[in-house]
Amino acid sequence: MKKSQHGFETNVIHGGYDSKEFLGSLSTPIFQTSTFTFDSAEQGEKRFAGEEDGFIYSRLGNPTVRALEERIALLEGGGAGLAFGSGMAAVSAVLIELTKANDHIVCSRGIYGCTFGLLSMLEEKYNITTDYSEMKTEAQIRSLLKPETSCIYVETPINPTMELIDLELVTRVAKEFDIPVVVDNTFCSPYVQKPLEIGCDLVVHSATKYIGGHGDVVAGLVVGKADFMQKMAMSTQKDIGGIISPFDAWLLLRGLKTLPVRMDRHTENAEKVVEKLKNHPNIAKVFYPGDPDNPDYPIMKKQMTQGGGLISFEIKGTKEDAQSMMNKLSFIKTAVSLGDTETLIQHPATMTHSVVPLETREKMGITDQLIRLSVGLENWQDIWNDLCQALD
Ligand SMILES: *Cc1c(COP(=O)(O)O)cnc(C)c1O
Repeated sequence: MKKSQHGFETNVIHGGYDSKEFLGSLSTPIFQTSTFTFDSAEQGEKRFAGEEDGFIYSRLGNPTVRALEERIALLEGGGAGLAFGSGMAAVSAVLIELTKANDHIVCSRGIYGCTFGLLSMLEEKYNITTDYSEMKTEAQIRSLLKPETSCIYVETPINPTMELIDLELVTRVAKEFDIPVVVDNTFCSPYVQKPLEIGCDLVVHSATKYIGGHGDVVAGLVVGKADFMQKMAMSTQKDIGGIISPFDAWLLLRGLKTLPVRMDRHTENAEKVVEKLKNHPNIAKVFYPGDPDNPDYPIMKKQMTQGGGLISFEIKGTKEDAQSMMNKLSFIKTAVSLGDTETLIQHPATMTHSVVPLETREKMGITDQLIRLSVGLENWQDIWNDLCQALD
């Protein structure tokens, strides 16, 4: 495990990069190159044989990308990190690495729409079956485990209902049966939740969201134990090839520097908006992990440092009312994605989760009245005023 004597706020800025090795460049240089030249044929031979450190070809490693991978490993408290061209490239690399034909996966009931699509594809193509579970009790998880269960895959908070799963509880059962636990930590970022410290085995991220933070890059990250990550680097990263570009890695290195500052403000704004939403007559329910009235609040206190920037709420009315409310917003933008400086709103039933069959969607609690809000960094009163006039 990567250890550092510095605090998180220092590591987001300095982790994985030493300017002394790069001509004093304060900002990490962007190594926009596909390949690396060898001094001699013998050097090339040694690099391929793994007998000499050094870069070979950018799909196998690139200095800008390497800095990002080291930084995220440090921040999550894992042995090593790998970067990918999208969150889904990261998720698929992990799931393909962990499974073989006819295996079995236990997955949290609520899940990112494309992850659900990927799991369905793995079932169709390779008979890798998935059981979805609420994961509220040890018994619920235990009852689903089979000899061929090759991983437990968890998203918490669950998208888009914001329910939480107790990671310590899941890990306890998994350890008994020696099954790896994978956590999609996209909604929290390592500033808010560190699943590896709780005992989970792998963390995946859509770095497109809070880690990039500015809505200008699509990328993914994975962190885990060094030996497993090395295996992934030489198989599902190298041979499937869903790598990140050096420039996108640089954008993430830059985004990470302000992660703690941004996250604190996202949460502060979200808490204020939640208080207002709860008291608005046209709102039926508000789901926010940082709300003391939320049934999952004790789990939040246990495994998260703060509530984060995502809220979902149900309006009183129909799907059309939800859509017309969204159409009345002024600077709040209707868009999927989250974790950006801009406040974004979306309608899960017809957008991010429209691919999920209706029956599954209903079980997941995704009604036509449910709206998800990614609270941005604007003035909170402006955010509320915009929401309020649309709700009125
Ligand atoms: C966006 C997202 C993904 C997919 O990431 P991309 O970067 O869009 O490929 C996976 N999981 C969660 C929770 C997400 O929000």
